[in-house]
Amino acid sequence: MLDNQSERRVAVVSGGSRGIGRAICIALAAADYDIAYCYARESEAALETQKLCEALGAKVLAARCDVVDSHACEKWIKSVLEECGPVDVLVNNAGVTRDALLIAMSEEDWRDVIDVNMTGMFNVSRPIVFEFMRRRRGVVVNISSVSGVYGNRAQCNYSAAKAGVIGFSKALAKEVGVYGIRVNAIAPGFIQTDMAAAVSASELESVLQRTPLGRFGLVDEVASAVCYLVSDAAKYITGQVIEVSGGLTL
Ligand code: NDP
Repeated sequence: MLDNQSERRVAVVSGGSRGIGRAICIALAAADYDIAYCYARESEAALETQKLCEALGAKVLAARCDVVDSHACEKWIKSVLEECGPVDVLVNNAGVTRDALLIAMSEEDWRDVIDVNMTGMFNVSRPIVFEFMRRRRGVVVNISSVSGVYGNRAQCNYSAAKAGVIGFSKALAKEVGVYGIRVNAIAPGFIQTDMAAAVSASELESVLQRTPLGRFGLVDEVASAVCYLVSDAAKYITGQVIEVSGGLTL
């Protein structure tokens, strides 16, 4: 749908400052997208993504925007549309974990995880999908997790939020397919990032033993799946969950 055009296309990525989000920005910049990404906190890393994408020839709009704040998201997307033009691709990637067993989980840890991973996706998607429907085109990729498909100990909050991401993706795919808009989710397994650095050594060993490919995943391997899903090669795929997990859940 979007591949055979001469002008550069525009991709919006939430949580583009680090980890998987940065790799997605870079991969899409390499695939001729201009990039608008957001992050939660000002940092050197936040602007490093911009430099890396610009080096690939992309125009980049980087902004601090807390995806939990619906007004901030509306404002951010308005500025993206004004400065970058129509958006072609949305990747909802921003996420956090606050792991604890349920009986030890604070209400704050429950809410933070639901708010960032799930409500953040709603806040960013709504204004962009409105534009997609107006133009009768667009692709959404939501970053879920294998925790959202199978559940994970000490992650009731995160597993619930990431299962919500999958439910949202399937429901939206049904709503907007008639407009030519596709919506899919990716469920990564264990990918080496700052988020994964919070996991205990014993849990890491257990994940490794259960992963048929015998190693943790790389951020680029999630980014490749995003590039596939937004490309013409996937133009008949919608409402699906693609696992990028080295076979962890087999
Ligand atoms: P990181 O912790 O490395 O990066 C998280 C990104 O999300 C950062 O850019 C961060 O911005 C941004 N972010 C966090 N909270 C907010 C917020 N309120 N508003 C805007 N941006 C925010 O995470 P990963 O790269 O590991 O994870 C990326 C996605 O992949 C997440 O959705 C995660 O749940 C999912 N995932 C990761 C797995 C893994 O093993 N790493 C496995 C399965 C799924 P800032 O730099 O400002 O904090």
